[in-house]
Amino acid sequence: MAGKFKNCITICCAKKPPVVEEDMATNGKPIHIDDAINGLKKLLSEKEDLNAVAVEKIKQLTAELEGGDGGEFNPVKRIRDGFARFKKEKYEANPTLYGELAKGQSPKFLVFACADSRVCPSHVLDFQPGEAFVVRNIANMVPPYDTIKHSGAGAAIEYAVVHLKVENIVVIGHSCCGGIKGLMSIPDDGTTARQEAVNVSLGNLLTYPFVREAVVNKKLSLKGGHYDFVNGSFDLWNLDFGVSPSLI
Ligand SMILES: [Zn+2]
Repeated sequence: MAGKFKNCITICCAKKPPVVEEDMATNGKPIHIDDAINGLKKLLSEKEDLNAVAVEKIKQLTAELEGGDGGEFNPVKRIRDGFARFKKEKYEANPTLYGELAKGQSPKFLVFACADSRVCPSHVLDFQPGEAFVVRNIANMVPPYDTIKHSGAGAAIEYAVVHLKVENIVVIGHSCCGGIKGLMSIPDDGTTARQEAVNVSLGNLLTYPFVREAVVNKKLSLKGGHYDFVNGSFDLWNLDFGVSPSLI
């Protein structure tokens, strides 16, 4: 018993509740979270000689795993419930779509959007899985082409344009963007400044040689967008860059 109890206390004190079932393992063997809960309950019912502190600790852990911790926000429960809902209502309801996505992706859009939690482009524009390759960062900024700096954004653009052959790049700004205020030191007093910031990013996209080539060959279109979540509106615009073929 002592060995079992010690093992349980180790789990209790580790303070690393399993985010997904696969993460919870003992001796390399995955344990289903429901099995873990049942195991703790069994331990409580069978081991009457457990001291009060141990009993309380096990009850607390069981409650946390079950999400019954007195109404406080439980991130594990939120993630488990969210995935269960997605799997039942979307994944299992669309076997054709998810079957195709298992083979690969061919999105039509590369989207640059702000990391702000209120402006998820898949939610706002109802993109379905496989429709949009998305890059999110502070203030939806596209950096100018640089082979050394900005490798994350640059790699995403190259992969989307050269390998996935997306047909559209959309840079989306939004209302009340703290990132724009912080990065550009401009007041958030209207859409003009935010739209100009989007246009700067569109201009920066043309510094990428493969983007420029695709635009010149009319394989790729660059678009600016602005989502106003205060008024519930979305503006979309094209820019006529008058791009000519590179001289080199
Ligand atoms: Zn923002």
